[in-house]
Amino acid sequence: MVEEEFCVVCGATGRPLIDGVCAPCAADRTRLVWARRQGSVTICPHCGAREVRSHWERSGSSTVLTSEDLLPFLEFHPEVGLRRIRWEETAATPNLRELRGQAHLVFRGIPRDVEVPLTVRLVSKSCPDCSRKSGRYYTAILQLRGGADDRSERAAERRARLEEVWKELLREARPDSRKALSWTEERPEGWDCYFTETLPARSLAKLAKERIGASLTESSSLAGRKNGREVYRVTFCLRFPRTVDARASSPSTAAPAEMEQ
Ligand SMILES: [Zn+2]
Ligand SMILES: [Zn+2]
Repeated sequence: MVEEEFCVVCGATGRPLIDGVCAPCAADRTRLVWARRQGSVTICPHCGAREVRSHWERSGSSTVLTSEDLLPFLEFHPEVGLRRIRWEETAATPNLRELRGQAHLVFRGIPRDVEVPLTVRLVSKSCPDCSRKSGRYYTAILQLRGGADDRSERAAERRARLEEVWKELLREARPDSRKALSWTEERPEGWDCYFTETLPARSLAKLAKERIGASLTESSSLAGRKNGREVYRVTFCLRFPRTVDARASSPSTAAPAEMEQ
């Protein structure tokens, strides 16, 4: 006769046992997930960037807390695999959020749903990019102007036309160019776009020249001194003639034209 082993807790037979206990009983008696400590998330209220240790990331994301913010504060039993977790806010004050996570996990091959409470402190702090922008700091101006053929164009018409070209240009721009753009100002002759960094402004100016056929002139002026070094502000003046339609030289239509040459 074969002696069958049984779980010392529930008496079930035919289940794999560890130290005499089956997996469901072990799961009941084990802490599977818990909040490591009170979490703290630092968010830039202007752009949604998160401060992680000494740097900022995820600029442009929502200021609403997500799993990406909360998961780092949870600790799991080494034999647990997390499948998914759903968060629900149970209480909120301006700088504190109480949440309940519904974790769906697997422990020794069996699925379990476990509730885990978490309290997170919210710290609102402007990231370096946004502080520079709010201080109206800039190192480069990109001027959008009409061409020599726009004498008959009214100022409002010209601005509207240049705005369309600008939107098109921004769609094709590299992310760092969009990020360095701080603010734009309306001028009778077009637009002035202010940048917190010069290199991304220059690459955008070059893109306008190459893709849209704008003419480009660059000038710089001494803005002052910082840490003993001279600081220059660079102005990129882009002239967009009326006859050039931004769409006519967009990548999809530009390719066949190049092939005909
Ligand atoms: Zn059992
Ligand atoms: Zn920011």
